[in-house]
Amino acid sequence: MQQLSDRINNLPVSETLAMAAKARELKAEGKDIISLSLGEPDFNTPDFIKDAAKQAIDDNYNSYSPVDGYLDLREAICRKFKRDNNLTYSPNQIVVSTGAKQSIANIALVLLNPGDEVLLPAPYWVSYSAIATLAEATYKEIPSSIDTDFKITPEQLEAAITPKTKLIFFNSPNNPSGTVYTESEYRAFAKVLEKYPNIYILSDEIYEHINYGQPNFSFASIESMYDRTITVNGVAKAFAMTGWRIGYMGGPAWIAKACTKIQGQITSGANCIAQRATIAALDAPVSKIQFMVDEFHKRRDLVLELLSEIKGININTPKGAFYVFPDVSSYFGKTIDGVTINNAGDFSMFLLEKANVATVTGGAFGAPDCIRLSYAASTEELKEAFKRIKNVLN
Ligand code: GLU
Repeated sequence: MQQLSDRINNLPVSETLAMAAKARELKAEGKDIISLSLGEPDFNTPDFIKDAAKQAIDDNYNSYSPVDGYLDLREAICRKFKRDNNLTYSPNQIVVSTGAKQSIANIALVLLNPGDEVLLPAPYWVSYSAIATLAEATYKEIPSSIDTDFKITPEQLEAAITPKTKLIFFNSPNNPSGTVYTESEYRAFAKVLEKYPNIYILSDEIYEHINYGQPNFSFASIESMYDRTITVNGVAKAFAMTGWRIGYMGGPAWIAKACTKIQGQITSGANCIAQRATIAALDAPVSKIQFMVDEFHKRRDLVLELLSEIKGININTPKGAFYVFPDVSSYFGKTIDGVTINNAGDFSMFLLEKANVATVTGGAFGAPDCIRLSYAASTEELKEAFKRIKNVLN
């Protein structure tokens, strides 16, 4: 008899990873699938980072690191926060984890009690809601739509707050919409939050460098927010290091200490070789990764052009990250090629079955009218994928 806990039974699977797994499975069966499901740079990790990892192996970095990460890595993270984000942290305010996802889980688990409420400006990354559920909190979506460039307003934020609200997630550049909040928009949110001192803010800035407009603005750099904002980042997206699994948080020392405590019971700390490589990544000038950002920028423009040729797709211009998040609701209720599309999940499955293109339903991100397509794929793949989509829809 299988007797799983309520905790796992109540946890949804990660739709991004599930779709990527499905695409892999179909490819293994010989199907010609183009996967635009996973948000993962298609570049190799730059050589100077790989060299640092090789050196770490030769230097016998094979023992447990401190649970919160090597001190010299935490110092490098402090320098990075100062250089890129105008944030002053000391190493005791930093915790290195097995991916930004673990940083987020740590923070949720150390801050939330059962019944606490988490606010999620929608669309939001799939795992935020799942992690809130895992922490036995409830979550409330603050909706937005393509008409507002997927941004929420300060009025909406204030209306969503209740005495139970404990944590709010900001994510800019946003996964899945590519939306980037400006400094003045963030300052307007801070004005609201100043009235509610018991609410904490998790600012997920994992896409900060994949930004095609104004430089990233860090929420914690607003003076009144510094003491209750936890900034999460990592090397996966900017340095093409998804599989190396290194993320980190910077925030109040008491929260960092609690995250270290929980990590000490769960993982003992992040992989030591990857930590050494991360020092090289973060100490390098940002110009070293600009070629990837430039390439993503070109692909975004290409994808917008290709999408504009497809009927019934409503799209905004993403300012960062590497996703497009079109509204496909004009297709709901229609039958194409014998398949009736009633929602974004049906639409995404239709594209997989009829066009052999894997995408992710917007329902997983709290935006049921949309689907997400990652353009972290080669130009050839993108051209072919959108040709196929156009053929099955037009
Ligand atoms: N963050 C990426 C995505 O949204 C990687 C997969 C995941 O961890 O969800 O596709």
